[in-house]
Amino acid sequence: MDFGFSPDVLEFQRRVREFIADNMRPELQTGISYVAGAGEDDQELASAQAEFRKLLDKAGLLRVAWPKEFGGEGLPPVYEYVLRQELERNGLEPRVGMSLTSAVIAKCGTEEQKDEFLEKLLNKDLTMCAGFSEPRGGSDLAGLETRAVRDGDEWVLNGQKIYTTYADTADFMWCLARTDKDAGKHDGISIFMVDMSHPGVTVRPLYTMGTYLTHEVFLDDVRVPHRHLIGGEPNQGWYQNTLALDLERINIGSYFAYKRFFDEVVEFAKSDEYTSKAIVDNSLLRVRLGELAVDLEILRQLANRNAYLVNENAVSSMIASMAKVWSTEFYYRMASVVMQLLGPFGQLKKGSKWALLAGEAEIAYRNSPPPRFGGGTNEVQRDIIARRGLGLPRSR
Ligand SMILES: Cc1cc2nc3c(=O)[nH]c(=O)nc-3n(C[C@H](O)[C@H](O)[C@H](O)COP(=O)(O)OP(=O)(O)OC[C@H]3O[C@@H](n4cnc5c(N)ncnc54)[C@H](O)[C@@H]3O)c2cc1C
Repeated sequence: MDFGFSPDVLEFQRRVREFIADNMRPELQTGISYVAGAGEDDQELASAQAEFRKLLDKAGLLRVAWPKEFGGEGLPPVYEYVLRQELERNGLEPRVGMSLTSAVIAKCGTEEQKDEFLEKLLNKDLTMCAGFSEPRGGSDLAGLETRAVRDGDEWVLNGQKIYTTYADTADFMWCLARTDKDAGKHDGISIFMVDMSHPGVTVRPLYTMGTYLTHEVFLDDVRVPHRHLIGGEPNQGWYQNTLALDLERINIGSYFAYKRFFDEVVEFAKSDEYTSKAIVDNSLLRVRLGELAVDLEILRQLANRNAYLVNENAVSSMIASMAKVWSTEFYYRMASVVMQLLGPFGQLKKGSKWALLAGEAEIAYRNSPPPRFGGGTNEVQRDIIARRGLGLPRSR
């Protein structure tokens, strides 16, 4: 079943596949842990990826969803979905093209903001962190308390963000702040580009059990120029972020990254290189691998159906939430099964002499719990399925 992707999209997919076959180099290849952000500090990898992005751009494949006035083709996000799927299938960097930030700036930014930020964001010459979550709760985003008060040509920001990934290295923070405390919960919010080097910005690390490094960000009388208020008009932030939701939604699930890892695991299980007997002789592990194969196929169907619906302008919150829940819980289940399969060897870190499967199992085991609550917890996603999918009333 092809979910009705148009001949143009399938032709684009063919061009991407051909490009990758011609330009793939071993030093560009990453493991499953890269999808979760591990290894992004590898400078050699980063410069090889920058070269690869330039080639993608030259071949006319990078700006496919980029606005036409900035050298793009302005095509729907499903083209980027296909591009990212193909990159993941080959273990290449999938986070290319539009991001939430560039999508909102392209749609709602002032001309000055488009000139200042868009090209640099595409080339990753400018890096961002996302300042959404706050200490009093990330699920209730509209309840955020960071305040911004206008003072002439500047805004003065005070508040705290939490779990801010990349805050230690980012040039700017995409910062949601309340600009009208008397307006309705969703109405008084604005988005600011906060320069992380400005006085009053303090970043403190928050370590996780995985390779994710998040941070607390404290904003104490941080002065942000008015030209860095997205769109130039206050109180539009909630609406602006929602406009980019399609882009967020379409990229749910990392089917091909998981499939690559799963295929490696199955090959490993079949071989008797490391044990006297092939692992597949263990009936319990056979069953577990069989279950994962079924789960992986469900993920493929959900991710493609979600992308198809977004492309048809028939966005379904229920399917998007199902894809998010299933994808993150599949990753968690797969990591647990692989740990059982490798026994004590599974605990060895990347780089260790005896590590199997390139040490990816140990990272996957530690990295797989957080995505179940990052980016909207799975409990909240299940509540969305109950309300918007099954029509249950909002819980009291
Ligand atoms: C590794 C990692 C990286 C992250 N990176 C970023 C980042 O870069 N930028 C950023 O802004 N945030 C980031 N986050 C934060 C993430 O988005 C939040 O953790 C998430 O939104 C949940 O918010 P919370 O942790 O405050 O939990 P809360 O919202 O306080 O929820 C606590 C518990 O209550 C449950 N709950 C809450 N509301 C409901 C409801 N209505 N129905 C049912 N159950 C409910 C939740 O499911 C959860 O179990 C990151 C988190 C992690 C783990």
